Amino acid sequence: MKGIFFIVSFLWIVAVCFAMNFKQPGEKERLKAIGLLSKLSETLKRAFRADSDFEPVPIPASGDWLYEHPESGQTFIDFVNSNPNKPDKKRKRIYLQPLGDFPRERSPSLEKLKDYASAYFSLEVEILPPLDIKESMLTTRINPYTGTRQILTTDILNLLIKSLPERAYCLMAITMEDLYPHPSWNFVFGQASLAGRVGVYSFARYDPVFYGEERGKNYKKIMLWRSCKVLVHEIGHMFGIEHCIFYSCVMNGSNHLKESDARPHHLCPVDLRKLHYSVGFDVIQRYRELQGFYEECGFGEEEEWVRRRLKNLYTD
Ligand SMILES: [Zn+2]
Ligand SMILES: [Zn+2]
Repeated sequence: MKGIFFIVSFLWIVAVCFAMNFKQPGEKERLKAIGLLSKLSETLKRAFRADSDFEPVPIPASGDWLYEHPESGQTFIDFVNSNPNKPDKKRKRIYLQPLGDFPRERSPSLEKLKDYASAYFSLEVEILPPLDIKESMLTTRINPYTGTRQILTTDILNLLIKSLPERAYCLMAITMEDLYPHPSWNFVFGQASLAGRVGVYSFARYDPVFYGEERGKNYKKIMLWRSCKVLVHEIGHMFGIEHCIFYSCVMNGSNHLKESDARPHHLCPVDLRKLHYSVGFDVIQRYRELQGFYEECGFGEEEEWVRRRLKNLYTD
């Protein structure tokens, strides 16, 4: 009996090893990902050091992003060597392009999304006049499983590339409509072209009504909280920041709603250093602005995290 148990356990371990090739990075690898800080100012050394405000990336369970996609990670040096797009004198504004309607009762506030992106990236953000789906001649279909209208993402990206404003660092279309990238696909949350500086993201599947469920009491707040998080994750990609495998971080990949809800709003030290390399903001000022935003929106946990973070940045 014991022998059988041993064989079953052994086979189970082998199966797990084959199914999940991701190995959680240890402290040494996390420090290596941040890179040497010795030549930086005291403020930046503190901002990018691996302290208690940052948790290691969680070990992925079956179905989670890193379980299905065991990525190798992008260190700060990998990022610099990739020669990413950086905002410059000409292209330094983030444009948000609403696509279709944003009905008040079920949509995140565009003004709030703008304020969040502006505080998060320390860049000017402008909302463009909404695009009408019919007038824009975009390909649409009715999804046979959900019965809802979907828009073809490649059509949207082509349209955005053609209308990229001269001053745009990037142009992000956001929509409450569902999306699909190819007739053979069921749906997609979003799609981007880094080279084209454009992307499109849908918040449609953050609405419980989409799945035939009721909107809860806190619906508006949760919708905004989720939309803000996906927006900064996706804009982060436009800076050439890849998925994070080192810490619990807004740049963690996610395979399902539970996983994306579990990842935090903040950037880990590796990715904060990347964004700082590209934009060059005042780290303390950025955190203060984020704190103000979280307070205004009632995002208590996030506000508390920034408050603690600012305190830690001022003390050893
Ligand atoms: Zn991503
Ligand atoms: Zn990170």
